[in-house]
Amino acid sequence: MRIAIDMDEVLADAHGGQRRLYAAEGHTFTDDALRGQELKEVAPPEAVTAVERHLHQGTFFANLDPMPGAADALERLCEDHEIFVATAAMDYPASCAHKVAWMMRHFPFFDLSRLVMCGDKSILKADVLIDDHTRHFDGFGGKGLLFDALHNANVDWPHRLTHWDHAHDTLREMQS
Ligand SMILES: [Mg+2]
Repeated sequence: MRIAIDMDEVLADAHGGQRRLYAAEGHTFTDDALRGQELKEVAPPEAVTAVERHLHQGTFFANLDPMPGAADALERLCEDHEIFVATAAMDYPASCAHKVAWMMRHFPFFDLSRLVMCGDKSILKADVLIDDHTRHFDGFGGKGLLFDALHNANVDWPHRLTHWDHAHDTLREMQS
């Protein structure tokens, strides 16, 4: 199969990184407060503006932790499938070089010719797209696999990946 995989909140813990930025602005949130909502929907507008300014500088994306199990899962998937990493990097144009460096650091086995910096993901042609936002499945020709996140906890979607350790089994179930 050809599988396209999102970066932020799927391979990279951008949620954890943003929570640290909000904490630096004096705002902390419980998981319960964030279930079903984006950070920027819960945080005060002035804090959102400060965090967005930081995100647009780009360096934020160089210092994110990988999601648990992501490196092992991606390496295994690359053995059996044609894997592309597809990130809507145009949301933060200054992030591009940092995202490339981040991939090289945490996923050194990954072929960078298969790293796709895009805007609208409907351009992607793959069998499966793993993403934490269902809006990226709009117009996508393959099957969307929703990666579990607090913000999408209440989203009803037929295919959900709850942890990278389950990737192999979940993808097999989707094929049957
Ligand atoms: Mg994402």
